Amino acid sequence: MSEQRGHPPVIEFRDVAKVFNPGTPRAFTALEHLSFLIDDLPEKGEFRAILGPSGCGKSTALNLLSGFQEVFPPTSGEVRVRGCPVCGPGIDRGMVFQKYSSFPMYTVFGNVKFGLELNRGTLGYDQRRIDSLAMEWIERVGLGGHQHKYPHQLSGGQQQRVALARTLVLRPRIILMDEPFSALDEPTRLEMQRLLVDLWGEVQATVLIVTHSITEAVYIGDRVWIFSRAPGRIAREFSDLPVPQPGVHPLEIQRTAEFLERVEEVSEAFRQVERGEER
Ligand code: ADP
Repeated sequence: MSEQRGHPPVIEFRDVAKVFNPGTPRAFTALEHLSFLIDDLPEKGEFRAILGPSGCGKSTALNLLSGFQEVFPPTSGEVRVRGCPVCGPGIDRGMVFQKYSSFPMYTVFGNVKFGLELNRGTLGYDQRRIDSLAMEWIERVGLGGHQHKYPHQLSGGQQQRVALARTLVLRPRIILMDEPFSALDEPTRLEMQRLLVDLWGEVQATVLIVTHSITEAVYIGDRVWIFSRAPGRIAREFSDLPVPQPGVHPLEIQRTAEFLERVEEVSEAFRQVERGEER
């Protein structure tokens, strides 16, 4: 993997290890020798999907990248974004979690503009711009008309739409998604996949998505990584996957023979990795 046009990679892990509770009987090595880089694809960004056995350090890798204080920094090695070591959270990285992460005391509108207001100084936006951007993203994620509702008045899918809008409104160059659709029923999950693909052209960010759905990984990912059992590192990589089409329902692609073949190929590799037989 090379650096494109002399730009530093958008994300780089250099021989990263993370040991929780080091030096105690509860010491646990979640990641070891994790090295990768993701080039910046101008005006596009890449979509990497991460699969792996439960507890193999997938969330830990995302949390190190986000600079999340309970996990950051790595025990050894280095995490870099655009050539600079990560030293904490930043507006350039947005995170979407599995659990609904909206503030219960704010409306949809209040939630979506929260990050804009918090970063008002850095962004240089006045209140009118903040309000109109928030409304624009509420519309884009399909929540027009729901802006005055509170999170408890929304369905699970709608709450994840708020989470997407809250993240995307800040236009982060890196979006980290940790099982974002896992708590949703299947039809809603497909709707969210469709929304993500439809919004994709506008977002132009690099996305890392952790999922336990092999179908979702193959559908959404430009590449799929399978992490080894803990301590996690990349055991297998798949590229040249079927490309999702904006405006096309995910099932139209997910039912094709080509798609099902790739899912079977990745599933077989996943089973090998689970058995500790990775190459
Ligand atoms: P995954 O996302 O692949 O399921 P995680 O990255 O969440 O796995 O966790 C990897 C391992 O590290 C798990 O065994 C988990 O219990 C442990 N772990 C994660 N966070 C912490 C923490 N803050 N303190 C102690 N152990 C942790």
